[in-house]
Amino acid sequence: MIVVMEQGAPDSQIAHVVKLIQELGLKDHVIKGTERTVIAAIGDDRAKAKENIENAPGVEKVMPVLARYKMASREMKKDRTVISLGGTLGASVGGKKVCMIAGPCSVESREQLLTCAKEVKEAGATALRGGAFKPRTSPYEFQGLGEAGLKILAEAREKTGLAVVTEVMAVDQVALVCKYADVLQVGARNMQNYNLLMAVGETKTPVLLKRGLSASLEEFLLAAEYIISRGNPNVILCERGIRTFENYCRNTLPLAIVPEVHRISHLPIVIDPSQGTGHAHLVPDMCKAAIAAGADGLIIEAHDDPEHALTDGAQSITPKTLLETMKVLKHIAAAVDRDI
Ligand code: PEP
Ligand code: MN
Repeated sequence: MIVVMEQGAPDSQIAHVVKLIQELGLKDHVIKGTERTVIAAIGDDRAKAKENIENAPGVEKVMPVLARYKMASREMKKDRTVISLGGTLGASVGGKKVCMIAGPCSVESREQLLTCAKEVKEAGATALRGGAFKPRTSPYEFQGLGEAGLKILAEAREKTGLAVVTEVMAVDQVALVCKYADVLQVGARNMQNYNLLMAVGETKTPVLLKRGLSASLEEFLLAAEYIISRGNPNVILCERGIRTFENYCRNTLPLAIVPEVHRISHLPIVIDPSQGTGHAHLVPDMCKAAIAAGADGLIIEAHDDPEHALTDGAQSITPKTLLETMKVLKHIAAAVDRDI
């Protein structure tokens, strides 16, 4: 960190700040300029309460130099992280191949899920999404089938080879969901549920971590850091749109996060254009834009009969639209040196 002193700060105040820096176990380096003095604190100060120094007399501001996350950062690991998802179709995310995860918002019935799984596989997906535990805004809406839904997902994997991605909403569900799922989805509403982040961090199952509705990129990466620092390095970031003043779409989907994540982190990032827009007619084009921006994967809501879907029908495309979209995505992927 760099401590900038106020103009004319006396030597006694500079000496006091030097002492505070040394107390933190850091090395000080005082640079006296013509206008003001700047003190660099050398060493890894991530675990230190360094912002307290701003309270010392004569300090104008304290500027951190290191990112607050460490294991999620590019400085820590230059090579991009590639994560195998499971199933028998070679699903993986973070490598040259763009990962396609598709399926309904919720598992509604055995027939619905098995039909949809077969169709998204035919369209080119290697992983199946579907919520058995659903975080619904209203308590009166369909909450998911729970363990019965997980069993249907496992059967779909058995029949198709697709890897299963499904949400875990609470610490006490982690063991159960791990029994059936290949990837644990932590939903946007739970991105700051630190107990849940630590619990999934204690498993070996890959985690698809969704960005919170009002979380900054730094907070998103710090949430990933919670999981990695507990021992699970297999974190897939998922941008699913943030809440803004806009209302033509359900959320605002900031695709600039893709190249920015690639610049500052080694973790793969996938885009969810379904929660990201809220409208099926916007989904295919946002899939194209995401791949063009360098996304490592897509997680798409696809439903055979969106008009009768129990959740998120308005934003669900049909497997037929998915198949058509995939044809275009192949060209876009090739143009940015990726396969799909
Ligand atoms: C979902 O994927 O259906 C979902 C609930 O996502 P999010 O947590 O991003 O709202
Ligand atoms: Mn949904």
